[in-house]
Amino acid sequence: MEKKAEKRRIVLVPFPLQGHITPMMQLGQALNLKGFSITVALGESNGISSSQHFPGFQFITIPESLPVSVSEMEAFGPVEFLLKLNNTIEASFKECISQLLIQQGNDIACIIYDDLLYFCEAAAKEFKIPSIIFSTTSATHKVCCCVLSKLNAEKFLIDMEDTDLQNKVVENLHPVSFKDLPIRGFGPLERFLVLCREISNKRSACGAIINTASCLESSSLTLMQQEFGIPVYPLGPLHITASTRSSLLEEDRSCIEWLNIQKPRSVIYISMGSIFEMETKEVSEVANGLGDSNQPFLWVIRPGSKPLPEEVSKMVSEKGFVVKWAPQKEVLAHPAVGGFWSHCGWNSTMESIAEGVPMICRPFDGEQKLNALYIESVWRIGILLQDEVERGEVERAVKRLIVDDEGAGMRERALVLKEKLNASVRSGGSSYDSLNELVNYLKTEQKNAKTSGSNY
Ligand code: UDP
Repeated sequence: MEKKAEKRRIVLVPFPLQGHITPMMQLGQALNLKGFSITVALGESNGISSSQHFPGFQFITIPESLPVSVSEMEAFGPVEFLLKLNNTIEASFKECISQLLIQQGNDIACIIYDDLLYFCEAAAKEFKIPSIIFSTTSATHKVCCCVLSKLNAEKFLIDMEDTDLQNKVVENLHPVSFKDLPIRGFGPLERFLVLCREISNKRSACGAIINTASCLESSSLTLMQQEFGIPVYPLGPLHITASTRSSLLEEDRSCIEWLNIQKPRSVIYISMGSIFEMETKEVSEVANGLGDSNQPFLWVIRPGSKPLPEEVSKMVSEKGFVVKWAPQKEVLAHPAVGGFWSHCGWNSTMESIAEGVPMICRPFDGEQKLNALYIESVWRIGILLQDEVERGEVERAVKRLIVDDEGAGMRERALVLKEKLNASVRSGGSSYDSLNELVNYLKTEQKNAKTSGSNY
């Protein structure tokens, strides 16, 4: 009888917010299908129900002193929160891994951790377990973090008073200029740069996985490879091949029935992702603009968000459909959807492109602004709305996207990218090949690389 190949275990350490959990679990599924056993290490406060959707995955708990949640992050500010989290959790994670090694008879092939959780590297180093960094943002964003990590905060702030310098393109990163570097929304620059240095430091990691595809940002991937000096595996978009459901909120599927009775490519889908929320004034302007556009719309208003202003609530329920949480990938794949009004989180961006849906970009923070810049100026599949928006501008943007020739051009380009993205994860595609390279590396060479001590 043929001997069954021994499974090797991979420990995944996701950052437990929606936009990070989803791609990490999708990666887990891809590696599981390649024959690896998956252990997911999560802090006690994670919102994910382990038994829920991941049959076959083992879950272990990292005792934590700082619960990870949006409210905690808001209380400390994201930068101080992450610096503190990484400082305080290192010892408990080492203890977790030490227990796991005893239970699993040393059979851990690799620790793959979210790049925000760089504390994992200390345990990997101590127990001589290969480690790989996982990034859930774009390669361009990673390169920007590397650029930022080399800056002096004081000098940079003085330089940025000069408009010529603001508009200067960052070397090899066209069209990103210095003013586009993703620093907004993170508090004092000096502390943010400290975090950038930590996140851009590969320490003893053997490689970096990133949820992007070379057809989207090949030159940024080359730069990332140069910056990190370790193999970079672009495996994205991981959601295309994954069947895991990792929603932390319950999806309201009634919107699919509503979409079924709308005209093809007529609906604007509005979602600001899992964390961000529009100001009440903007909600009002957007609602009125959508109403004036006469296009139907599907709007995600998450539980706990500010309710719709009274004066627009009736109109919204007549002309649109509101859900607390949508099955987003299914919505974007629906033939009735003609455009996505998005905050441009990286997952939402790739999910939209993978379905050929053009976008109206309304980013909040620096990383989302970078994605929006690519959507509007590089891939040319969307409209960026800047500064304050008012209803007339909203109406015009919707018409430009859904009704005008301009929008038809964007849709055409989005459909071309959709084909390329889907091809990248199919046999012979760049992400498909990258996954196989990673698997080969995990199965063979990696252990040697680590035990030889070359990384220390
Ligand atoms: N999402 C969803 N239903 C919704 C809104 C969002 O399933 O109603 C998912 C979306 O498909 C994406 C994730 O939540 O995978 C949001 O991630 P993204 O990186 O776009 O933004 P973040 O929430 O991290 O700001």
